[in-house]
Amino acid sequence: MAFKGIVGQEKAIESLKRALEHDQVAHAYLFEGAEGLGKKAIALELASALVCNSNKDRPCGKCSSCVKVSSGNHPEIKVIEGKGTIKVDEIRELIKDIQLKPYEGTRKAYIICNADKMNIQAQNALLKTLEEPPLYVTLILLTTKGNSLLPTIVSRCQTIKLNPVRLEDIKSYLINNKNIDMEKAQMLAAFSGGIVGRAIELLDNPDFHQRREGVIKLCNNLMGTKLLIILDQISFFEEQRPHTEEIFDLMISWYRDLMVYKETGSMDLVINVDKKEVIDFQVKGIDLGKVRDIIFIIEKAKNNLKSNVQFHLNIEVMLLNIQEVLSKW
Ligand SMILES: [Zn+2]
Repeated sequence: MAFKGIVGQEKAIESLKRALEHDQVAHAYLFEGAEGLGKKAIALELASALVCNSNKDRPCGKCSSCVKVSSGNHPEIKVIEGKGTIKVDEIRELIKDIQLKPYEGTRKAYIICNADKMNIQAQNALLKTLEEPPLYVTLILLTTKGNSLLPTIVSRCQTIKLNPVRLEDIKSYLINNKNIDMEKAQMLAAFSGGIVGRAIELLDNPDFHQRREGVIKLCNNLMGTKLLIILDQISFFEEQRPHTEEIFDLMISWYRDLMVYKETGSMDLVINVDKKEVIDFQVKGIDLGKVRDIIFIIEKAKNNLKSNVQFHLNIEVMLLNIQEVLSKW
């Protein structure tokens, strides 16, 4: 049961379990990995294991300590959320707290989320404690970018890297825990880029689903319509202007799907798998060379976002170029 509910990250979890089993838990860890990979969940499991009353398979999830951790009020486990800059005062408070012996059980654990939000003074203040914390203490620092911490901080911690998760694992997680069908789960997993948190966020984000429907409609409209109608599509880009990059990515994923489906005849590797009928329809009227050209055109427009190309001009040129490709024999 230990470390349950975490998707993927077997390697990290294995090494933590081994350390727990052999009573070789480090005094300081640095969990590094993208937002949404479960850094905090794993840190809480580790902290929970350290204070768990069971003598095997910790955390047991059932003892009074474990229950307190999961309800967020175990007195020996403190979490700094790091929503804004973590200043030196906050770290000094933490150090003072660290010096106090645990009064419930024998261990204490501190989790610093967004550890890179510690300013330089705060990081320097933490250094000494990080080097020689009291034996009953484990510090767990979480970050998306270890290189924005002082090298002296990093070198005093045992670094555990979290990597993107297999899409299959995210898919099963969504099916089993979020009560959605296989096709939607496969689509969300593909868009998540291997980040569980991102898949969950997309699931609950109606704007994303609206934009995706808009893109599919746009791609449908681009098939075999006249020039004037194509230029009408610019209003969609205007409405969604802050999300232009995402729209381009959605378009690329759509045409990539047409390519994959055309080439393999199977939906297995298709991202927008819940749109089988539309894909099937569009694939009939298009050849592979054209799809490749269209992806290239969209990628160029996406790159233009970073340069000074005027917004409307960029979209217009892209739509016209796509239309030109589609109208060629
Ligand atoms: Zn327990």
